[in-house]
Amino acid sequence: HYSDTFRVKLFFGICPVENPRTPAHILCDWAYLAQKTVKGSDIVNFAFYDDALRKRLHDESYITDQMYEALEKHQFKLFLQPKVEISSGRIVGAVALVRWQHPTDGLILPGRFIPLFERNGFIMRLDAYIWEQTCSTLRTWLDKKYDPTPISVNMSRLHFNDDDLPSRLVSLMNKYNLPRHMLELELTESAFFANEPRLVRLMDELRAAGFVFSMDDFGTSFSNLELLSQVHFDTVKFDKSLTDSIVDNPKTQILFKAAVSMCREFGDTLTLAEGIENEEQLKVLQKLGCQLGQGYYFARPLPEDEFWERYV
Ligand code: C2E
Ligand code: CA
Repeated sequence: HYSDTFRVKLFFGICPVENPRTPAHILCDWAYLAQKTVKGSDIVNFAFYDDALRKRLHDESYITDQMYEALEKHQFKLFLQPKVEISSGRIVGAVALVRWQHPTDGLILPGRFIPLFERNGFIMRLDAYIWEQTCSTLRTWLDKKYDPTPISVNMSRLHFNDDDLPSRLVSLMNKYNLPRHMLELELTESAFFANEPRLVRLMDELRAAGFVFSMDDFGTSFSNLELLSQVHFDTVKFDKSLTDSIVDNPKTQILFKAAVSMCREFGDTLTLAEGIENEEQLKVLQKLGCQLGQGYYFARPLPEDEFWERYV
């Protein structure tokens, strides 16, 4: 049927028979699950169905089986971590981080479920829920005549497949009668792999509507310098891995200094260092011109009610 030639690649899933009574169709299913983990890879073309894979798949189905109910029962909780102005020690913002308050397993950290939710799409619902919780929290504080700082929320790249994103966010802000800049949108670097012209268009639309952006995880695997030249970010957040080596590695310092000056020259883009854990790091960062910081040195992420008791 086709005039082109095709390159055929074979991928294998291997399931050792440990118990001779296991039915053949189950063994085939397991081998198939193992095969799915390498399909399309250029590096390996086979995988074993072993204990590690069994455990991973089990954990994933444990989470997917419960995620809808968890959302309905409000088990996902909003935690907040302050953003601090380094020169004054003043709190100038907060970051919204999700935790799963599981009825039997206790508090589950996002590392265990966010990557999975990014793959199965559930992140769209969870993010929307966290944005709503954030707005509702801000509204409560404003009604109580506190003077809250803006709160940043994480934004998965999947949201940029949705052309309705700007109107969804605008109606959310209208629902809680909040100024747009109170909800800062944090994009992770992986977001920039997505359809870029569309991403730039949606970001422009959101900026025109008054939303504020930060680029998260700057300095990890893929630094999109090109995107920095196309859209304006209000803040660039340097990944914790850079902060970790800032004291001992002179090359990290050079890199950091250059990035800070690049952000300055972009206009008023602020730089924030993530994961500051001690005073030594803070001092070096300040010397390099970094304006904002976040990390256990200042405060750990706190449940929203504890956050307001301490910081609002
Ligand atoms: P992130 O947005 O870069 O958040 C910073 C992470 O570093 C948080 O981990 C925070 O608890 C941790 N952290 C902050 N300061 C320090 C420190 O001084 N030392 C150390 N060791 N860690 C510090 P967490 O809460 O586990 O979140 C991990 C990641 O999960 C986040 O990274 C973010 O990418 C993602 N995430 C969290 N909540 C959400 C959400 O609601 N939606 C989406 N899409 N992603 C989320
Ligand atoms: Ca980050």
